[in-house]
Amino acid sequence: MNPFAYTAAGSVGDALSDIAGANAKFVAGGTNLLDLMKENVMRPAHLVDINRLPLDGIEPRPDGSVRLGALARNAATAHHPFVRENLPLLSSAILAGASPQIRNMASNGGNLLQRTRCYYFYDSLVPCNKREPGSGCPAMGGLARQHAILGASEHCIATHPSDMCVALAALDATVNVASVRGERTIPFGEFHRLPGDRPEVDTTLEPDELIVAIDIPASRQFRDHSVYMKLRERQSYAFALVSVAAALDIDGGVVREARLALGGVAHKPWRDPRVEALIVGRPATAATFERAAAALLEGAVPQGVGVGSNAFKIPLARRAIVRALAQAAEATVTNLGDNVR
Ligand code: SF4
Repeated sequence: MNPFAYTAAGSVGDALSDIAGANAKFVAGGTNLLDLMKENVMRPAHLVDINRLPLDGIEPRPDGSVRLGALARNAATAHHPFVRENLPLLSSAILAGASPQIRNMASNGGNLLQRTRCYYFYDSLVPCNKREPGSGCPAMGGLARQHAILGASEHCIATHPSDMCVALAALDATVNVASVRGERTIPFGEFHRLPGDRPEVDTTLEPDELIVAIDIPASRQFRDHSVYMKLRERQSYAFALVSVAAALDIDGGVVREARLALGGVAHKPWRDPRVEALIVGRPATAATFERAAAALLEGAVPQGVGVGSNAFKIPLARRAIVRALAQAAEATVTNLGDNVR
């Protein structure tokens, strides 16, 4: 690990002026950044500790929406009574991720900013376009079981590892950020990037911008018909091969509104409102859901070779989408995770 300067900000204003220096990073829970620093993958010259900022609230509003503070911990968010009652999709997604210890430390803002778990990205002895632009991508001809089947580029086939973000994408969240230039709001679908020819850039957040909160609009219509399904190599403490956030509003067996997002398949949570429109107004049946799955996976391309290939993800994702939507149509499935705080 490289030497670095450390300051602890006492206010948002202090944090925004402290970050202005070259190669400075905010640190909250540190559950990903510190790992990356220990592996020499990220080498900030200055860490600005934001844990003292008053950004850890979870604030339900009378209209049914809720504001999640950027520094609220993942566990506190998942177990908050409003979230458990009204946003079971979000609660289940958070509890499907990581371990109780990590969820107790990890902040909501940090969850959005966690970096890919591509094995090659963490190994500073091998090339990687995301870590060192222009150096190459060994995943393309190697082990790609965790990698993308949608939205990849010739420069990078990494996936975004978050479970929470898949639910936030499905729930139409927005990300509120601040900098010395003022505040702005980023729709969740525009927050994470596809790799394109700049795989080193994960998000549309500017280097000096601080996430202050995540807003989720009223979502009670999905409360009784939502599922977060995560398929992984082992049952706990593993990243998704494929995950599905499915939420339906059903009246008399017919879908009034639908949300569908995938994790583990792209550089960002994968959602296409045109596919959701194919479900709306249709009966909540397997035939409707199979049509949606085929449409959402249109253009899916396998990566890797031999035993490292992720070709299995395409049929796996198709079956997972149909199953998650069918389960959601039945009733909400609440994931209690390991039920340990
Ligand atoms: Fe690096 Fe992306 Fe290739 Fe992984 S997939 S080795 S992160 S360029």
